[in-house]
Amino acid sequence: MDRPLVVVCVDGCQFEYITAAVAAGAAPFLGRLLRGAGTSFMADCVMPSFTNPNNLSIVTGVPPALHGICGNYFFDPDSGEEVMMNDPRFLRVGTILAAFSAAGAKVAVITAKDKLRKLLGFGMKGICFSSERADQVTLAENGIDNVLDRVGMPVPSVYSAALSEFVFVAGVKLMERERPDLMYLSTTDYIQHKAALANDFYAMMDRNLARLDELGATIVVTADHGMNAKHGADGEPNVIYLQDTLDDWLGPHQARVILPITDPYVVHHGALGSFALVYLTALGEQHSIAERIAALTGIETVLTRSAAAARFELPSDRIGDLIVVSRLDTVIGTSRDRHDLSGLDVPLRSHGGTSEQKVPLIMNRGVTQPPAAHRWRNFDAFDLGLNLAARSP
Ligand SMILES: [Zn+2]
Repeated sequence: MDRPLVVVCVDGCQFEYITAAVAAGAAPFLGRLLRGAGTSFMADCVMPSFTNPNNLSIVTGVPPALHGICGNYFFDPDSGEEVMMNDPRFLRVGTILAAFSAAGAKVAVITAKDKLRKLLGFGMKGICFSSERADQVTLAENGIDNVLDRVGMPVPSVYSAALSEFVFVAGVKLMERERPDLMYLSTTDYIQHKAALANDFYAMMDRNLARLDELGATIVVTADHGMNAKHGADGEPNVIYLQDTLDDWLGPHQARVILPITDPYVVHHGALGSFALVYLTALGEQHSIAERIAALTGIETVLTRSAAAARFELPSDRIGDLIVVSRLDTVIGTSRDRHDLSGLDVPLRSHGGTSEQKVPLIMNRGVTQPPAAHRWRNFDAFDLGLNLAARSP
């Protein structure tokens, strides 16, 4: 490496949010990159288009079939329990960050939500902390201390734009003082769940990216997934309550619907996304059940376990007997009474489906070789910044 690399994962970002901010004059630095001072590609994120599978793909460079993290939850049929997958023991490969730190590089990770910190920092020596718990950072646990003083901001609320701003400001401070060789910054999608237009947010991001560029870093910006409106003209969410539907068709306890978007922070999306797993008690009728689900209004695709593992590069032991993906404007729920939508103070925007797979992949450098017909993925980010970036700016 001849200069530091910063990879930024903007949670819930689509290309058009960036171009809208550029058009409004809110993001001049990104505007220069898009006009030819840098490189930009339309890339695909991994399925399901959720936060954890994609963050782990970006830091490992491989799809969930290899790294194992395919959502926040999976169902263990042997124990009959829903298992939360936020522990590093579920990770099946090492990360690029850990490999660099083992080779002697100075590595730093800053994530907005603490739920990702242990996964992203697994096996890594260096700096790793979340803005959510920035007041609890210790040298022993996080490789750094006094983060609040260094950043000059209070601990942000977990439901705020400041949670992501803290990530960027801390990243700039680290680049000024510690100058890590490799840095990974991961924001939260709180803002994009609320609105498509978020020019203030992109202006904040643009200022900090411009500063990292001034400091000489190669920067690659990508996203974990896009985001779409999932409601009708009346503002009410378009929800298929799949557990209720299956109970109705098959009787109770014949099918279990798991929503891998579910996590401890569900206020802004009500645990509703466009991707669901179905576990069946008896597999004999799985094809006919799949056909019935596929015929429901708002469903895009229903795949069996093996077909989904192949098409979406998923670990077959951690997905359901059926994988259900809903259309752009529709989400899938379990039972109506298990979703608390009282926290939705604006009409629902969410993700999880193939309709949220398109994400930007933008770098502040040219590339050494013209890209061939290549399906760019968000998990090409480190490869792009480390191996394909032109050496002189
Ligand atoms: Zn996300």
